[in-house]
Amino acid sequence: MTAVSSSMSAFRTYRCLWGWPRESGDVMTEKKPDEPEDSDEDWMKYANAGFGETDYSLWDDEEVTEVPIEADGDWDDADESPDQLSTHMEEIPRAPSPAGHKHLVRIGTCDHCLGRLGGKKRFEQSLEESGIEIRNLVTERDSHLSDARTEQPLCPFCENLYEESELLADIIFDSISPYELSRLQLGARIPKDQIEHEEEMRKRFGAGGSDALKSGLVRVIAQHLNKRLEGVTLVNDKPQVLALIDVLTLTVELDIRAHYLYGRYLKLERGIPQTRWPCRACKGRGCQRCEQSGLQYKKSVQDLIGNPLLGLFEADEHAFHGMGREDIDVRCMGRGRPFVIEMKEPKIRSIDAAKAMELINKEADGSIKITGLRDSNRSEVVRVKDTPAEKSYTIRFRILPLSEEEMKVLTAPVDLTHVDVQERGGKGKKKSSKRKRRGDKKNDHKKPLPSVIDVPVGPDEATLKAMKKPELVAMAEEMKLKKSGTKPELIERILAAGPPAPTYLDLPENDEILETITKLSGVKLAQRTPERVAHRRADLIRRRTVYETSNPTIEMMEDGVREVEFTLRCESGTYVKETVHGDGGRTQPSLSSLIKAKCEVLWLDVGDIHAD
Ligand SMILES: [Zn+2]
Ligand SMILES: [Zn+2]
Repeated sequence: MTAVSSSMSAFRTYRCLWGWPRESGDVMTEKKPDEPEDSDEDWMKYANAGFGETDYSLWDDEEVTEVPIEADGDWDDADESPDQLSTHMEEIPRAPSPAGHKHLVRIGTCDHCLGRLGGKKRFEQSLEESGIEIRNLVTERDSHLSDARTEQPLCPFCENLYEESELLADIIFDSISPYELSRLQLGARIPKDQIEHEEEMRKRFGAGGSDALKSGLVRVIAQHLNKRLEGVTLVNDKPQVLALIDVLTLTVELDIRAHYLYGRYLKLERGIPQTRWPCRACKGRGCQRCEQSGLQYKKSVQDLIGNPLLGLFEADEHAFHGMGREDIDVRCMGRGRPFVIEMKEPKIRSIDAAKAMELINKEADGSIKITGLRDSNRSEVVRVKDTPAEKSYTIRFRILPLSEEEMKVLTAPVDLTHVDVQERGGKGKKKSSKRKRRGDKKNDHKKPLPSVIDVPVGPDEATLKAMKKPELVAMAEEMKLKKSGTKPELIERILAAGPPAPTYLDLPENDEILETITKLSGVKLAQRTPERVAHRRADLIRRRTVYETSNPTIEMMEDGVREVEFTLRCESGTYVKETVHGDGGRTQPSLSSLIKAKCEVLWLDVGDIHAD
């Protein structure tokens, strides 16, 4: 199973050309799109730890004076115990106390942060509006603080970042405008030390439960955006577009998530791989052999479905996920094979699925046909890829004579100590611990199993010359040859006799073939990995069950050879052709070994996939 390709790869960056540069060489380690808000509980822990002892540099230049507590009814913050205040007389009380507000104003807090940290924001107010209200209240009492922002022009909480929120909203708005979307997620990348610094300040002076720097900023930007966006919901998960704001550079990176479509495909023509297959000669770069296409096969199910969709979605690329796959030379019939196709970085997301299907089927010109196309999602990719589908197949083969020697090969003992104990179908089932013993070479998946098939071959001259005379005499006797003469004479005689001529077994009657096919249902096969796939699969013996066989027919052809066709339904992962021809004894039992005739497979079709 291949991993689901990530859609996080393609970020697009949009730059603000006139945004002020923020001086910081800090590594941006903070990447989470949203930061959890501080709970009151966290604040309590912090308060109890004695915040008064923190050595904070801002105070170095500040003339710390005792701030009178004004009893105007606002002084009700339960977090502040009078005891604590009396023992830390130099401490500034937190907002929303008037003294706390006054302090926030004096140190140059911007209107947004004043609203965010002041603890006075009413539902209908923006942070800025609440901040202005608090500032007005403070300057009514202390008029000398009216120019605090002029004296301290850099907000100690947000470093004036909130003043850029409208600009950032504009950048996001412009950058997403080429894309159709209904779900947008915002995120911000803020240097870690800035986050930590603000958090310390906020917990010291801000009202309990105030928004953190990042979530507050995202909220303010969201408010600006909400006024402008139509039909777009700002979400916290599963967005179609994630806009990530980098506050250092005042840029926005867009992560355009893929759009997924589900359907079923029928493969009506042989010789088409399921997915794009890069040219073996040039590995996809394009060469003479592939006529610069970069493809080993001109057509693939993936391209036949995906290419017509690229234009409709204005997407760059597609990725294909099938519920299993069939071999290149195998057709896929019945209701077709379920798939999910992923359109990467689409500009358009709402298409007419029926029309898209029509277009695909028309352009495929009979090679494939798709049905049931509809919108899908990322989790369906996982479902489609993880469903071990039980399939039915139709297979057609010729019945030819089988020699006794070939029969021996087909039924040679299989070393079942190498059986892959992992059964299909049980999700996440662990391999037996027996397979994992250290130093047990039998359990090495990569190591090819020793050949268990002993093919009888006649001895060659070199072997005979290396043998002693009594051995040659014994061999001649066994081969029913004359045992007199010199060693060279014996060798010559043995070689001339050659391997015994094949003895062919009688071909089975039609009734026997039909009966054997019927009896194949319910049989548990032992299948050693076929040589044709051994380069990409571990060489193991797997147990697979044939659940059902049906519709057997026998047809006598013009050349006097019978052709047999039948349908079988079997467990996911069964090698079907091998079930019929026996793969030189690698699959046992096989139909070939049971009817004692060579079964030469002509074609195989996937009849149906029993899923969904
Ligand atoms: Zn601020
Ligand atoms: Zn090539």
